[in-house]
Amino acid sequence: MLDTQLEDVLRTTSRHLNKLKNMGIVTAGDLLINFPRTYNDRSEVTSIGNIKLNEVNTIRGIITHIFNRKTKTGKLMTMAKLTDDTGTIGVVWFHQPHIKRMLFNGSEVVMTGKAKFAFGQTTLQSPTFELRKEEQIHSERIVPVYHETEGISSKWLREKIKPLIDDWTKYFKDYMPEEIIDKQGFLHLNEAIKNIHFPENKAMLNKARERLGFDELFVLQLRALQKKWQWQQVASQDKVSIPQNIELIKDFIKNLPFELTRAQKKTLYEILQDMEKPYPMSRLVQGDVGSGKTIVAIAAILNAVKAGFQCAIMAPTEILAKQHYQSIYKFLLPYGLNIQFISGSSTGKQKLELISQMKRGTVDIVIGTHALIQDKIGFKKLGLAVVDEQHRFGVKQRSVLKSFGSPHLLSLSATPIPRTLAITLYGDQDLSIIDEMPKGRQEIITRLIPENKRIDAYRWIEDQVNKGRQVFVICPLIDESDILGVKSVTQEYAHLKEHIFPQHEIGLLHGKLKSAEKNEIMEDFAKNKINILVSTSVVEVGIDVPNATIMLIEGAERFGLSQLHQFRGRVGRGEHQSYCFLFTENKSQESGQRLSSMVKYSSGFKLAEIDLALRGPGEIYGVKQSGIPDLKLASLTDSVNIEKARLEAQAIIEKDPELKNYPRLKEKINRLEDVYVKD
Ligand code: ADP
Ligand code: MG
Repeated sequence: MLDTQLEDVLRTTSRHLNKLKNMGIVTAGDLLINFPRTYNDRSEVTSIGNIKLNEVNTIRGIITHIFNRKTKTGKLMTMAKLTDDTGTIGVVWFHQPHIKRMLFNGSEVVMTGKAKFAFGQTTLQSPTFELRKEEQIHSERIVPVYHETEGISSKWLREKIKPLIDDWTKYFKDYMPEEIIDKQGFLHLNEAIKNIHFPENKAMLNKARERLGFDELFVLQLRALQKKWQWQQVASQDKVSIPQNIELIKDFIKNLPFELTRAQKKTLYEILQDMEKPYPMSRLVQGDVGSGKTIVAIAAILNAVKAGFQCAIMAPTEILAKQHYQSIYKFLLPYGLNIQFISGSSTGKQKLELISQMKRGTVDIVIGTHALIQDKIGFKKLGLAVVDEQHRFGVKQRSVLKSFGSPHLLSLSATPIPRTLAITLYGDQDLSIIDEMPKGRQEIITRLIPENKRIDAYRWIEDQVNKGRQVFVICPLIDESDILGVKSVTQEYAHLKEHIFPQHEIGLLHGKLKSAEKNEIMEDFAKNKINILVSTSVVEVGIDVPNATIMLIEGAERFGLSQLHQFRGRVGRGEHQSYCFLFTENKSQESGQRLSSMVKYSSGFKLAEIDLALRGPGEIYGVKQSGIPDLKLASLTDSVNIEKARLEAQAIIEKDPELKNYPRLKEKINRLEDVYVKD
């Protein structure tokens, strides 16, 4: 029933139907889950004798003396009187002569508007009004306010939604297990939907919000936990467990040129423990840029390879994959392993040869880009798959890995996010956090530079370049069609080359370049053949050039804090003091506040919390791609409800992971998948 088309339900015009369609509202059900944006509490009715001046009052009364007139200045006014048992006041509207055709002397109305002293008497100014009915929908109650578009006002929506609420909410089949409803004292789904639109009172509104907000978090967590359970299901368990080779790991750690941090050791231990279990690991390691996630992954890889398994590492860009290849090669050189690289730019012949080696099991470790999860790929005995910058890959892309046998899955992310968000977004994985930087890492000096200091900044940079340092310049967009006036990278490149740093080598990097061109430029930059690299956000992930010490970001307000933090992590990787300079064209307070937190904080976790609080989860880097729908009522910062939803979801999955006894819940979760996860 709920999927009945609105044209069969509403009496309205096709123009209105089209507008609704543009808002994504096509069926009766869509209209009913189009929840109010906010509410106006008009439940308190004031008698005229008690009217509060300069405040919004809702008054019930009878209209008299209504007429239109023109002022000397040509303003068109509608004036009237409103009377109840306790007195009479004036009412005035401007430029709405049609009101005179809607209200008559003797009309019984409920009006809401601001009371002012004007025209020699207390007067309601431009009030909204509704004729007295058995049940008011625009007044004398908590009134829902919806997202509006031109032609679709809240008033219009209220009028259309109210009759549906009365007749159609019964078609919402509650999917929440009765035991949870009982235990938490929740409203049933149909009651909640009724009250989210037309709450009986404040308390019921809160209950409706509580129930529907819980639902959003609960189904996400349930889905995540079910995925985790599915990931752990394997046909033959003995193939999965990889024993810890303590001697080997000790030896590896001892020979590193540095000491692992406590957080690195703890994370490595968690991983090795996981891999020993008879079901596949699914673990996410979060750690700030430069916190040393790779080396932890390499140790785990070594352990798996030496136990006779193959390992794969997948990175989102070719540059990053190459870098992993190089460091793995370097760190694992003493162990005599066969380590290979595959990417989109490998030739067909190279790929075929490599794939056949992978299938025969002669390759120990393969590192690559998305090319790693193509059709023809296969492994003889894949034990561990590592996915770097995991949020760059879709859920489905990651799950392809499972089809190569049931490998342990280790995901790495340099986008630290608050725990509440992490368990909701990545609840199908266990979490390790590297919240500590290697010893001796320098703080990067960060400054927000006003436009009038730009030339000074350039001079200072020039000086640094003359001393041999290198510079990143990041611009938000690629080409000149940029209407927002943000510096485009090609223009900026030309400008810097001709006018600012003519005597230095400048490189240009953006996503539209061919991958071979990109590599060449990156290599030239790594070899210091290029002094200043002008780039879009493609440098964001993982590039390691220790001699680069300055990160200059144009249009900084256009990036999220987490992303800015990632950029900043490109410098400060070597022995020299490093700097991050932010330029912004936006003077708004919000962006000022955000950018000054960049100056103030160096922890990615801290910055992510601020981003979450200031801009909401949708804006945070990676959340949009994560397959999480926009939450209407729940907040991803609401740790109390997130924990509550987590516990309830866990209890259900422990009892009945396939939801055999909860068919509606099962359907709900499967539908979430259809609607929201797009790869
Ligand atoms: P990320 O977590 O950003 O992926 P990497 O793993 O690339 O960081 O590590 C950054 C650099 O720090 C690498 O050159 C790595 O070899 C080095 N490194 C890793 N762990 C430590 C440590 N405990 N002490 C010093 N340097 C380390
Ligand atoms: Mg990394």
